[in-house]
Amino acid sequence: MEIIPLPAFSDNYLWLIHDGRHAVVVDPGDDGPVARALAERGLELAAILVTHHHADHTGGIGALARPGLPVYGPAAERIAGVTHPLDDGDRVMIDAPTLALEVMAVPGHTLGHIAYYGNGALFCGDTLFNAGCGRLFEGTAAQMHGSLGRLSALPGETRVYCAHEYTLANLAFACAAEPDNPERDRYHAHCRALRDQGQPTLPTDLATQRAVNPFLRCASASVRAALAMATESDEQVFAGLRAWKDRF
Ligand code: ZN
Ligand code: FE
Repeated sequence: MEIIPLPAFSDNYLWLIHDGRHAVVVDPGDDGPVARALAERGLELAAILVTHHHADHTGGIGALARPGLPVYGPAAERIAGVTHPLDDGDRVMIDAPTLALEVMAVPGHTLGHIAYYGNGALFCGDTLFNAGCGRLFEGTAAQMHGSLGRLSALPGETRVYCAHEYTLANLAFACAAEPDNPERDRYHAHCRALRDQGQPTLPTDLATQRAVNPFLRCASASVRAALAMATESDEQVFAGLRAWKDRF
């Protein structure tokens, strides 16, 4: 099984999971890149997975849908074309490509946002980004902090498939938010080299994110010093980081 990024718009990745014959696409904001990838590789679309209702994640559903094609998405959001609404704890079983995914409710960016975890992979939409996290459009900082906590508790080797290439901008903020993190500095250089070569910085893995992502490091002394929040709760530090990033 192979998982490949299909670049769309200015910085989205639509993730295509395939076994050489059948494919599943995650968050098809645009049908064009998906249709081209399917045709080029001779793949048949077996299912669509959606994490949340924003147009850059759903805009291609209508053009890709056909009778009998399962379209999975969050039950708590109104998304045209979804045939299989999902709640926290539900499972998605797909025969080909062979996928067994667990649904995790991760409110924060939107209230109904879900993530899909399984086969060693996490499709987390706009919740967890490489070295960052999604904006709080609908949810609270407490909700997003809880959602990121659940995701970051998954096994460290879990491959993380985020929906946007925001990594270098996120790392620039991470340098300000946690000045003293040598592992992050090394990772920053690695990601800069990838982008210089036109390569995606994704997928990443959770062990790396726990080491470099300031939004998963609210207990870090360097983060707390940067925010002047020595004694506040992790949740308060998270809220402080998110508010700072919004105006960074
Ligand atoms: Zn979004
Ligand atoms: Fe998005």
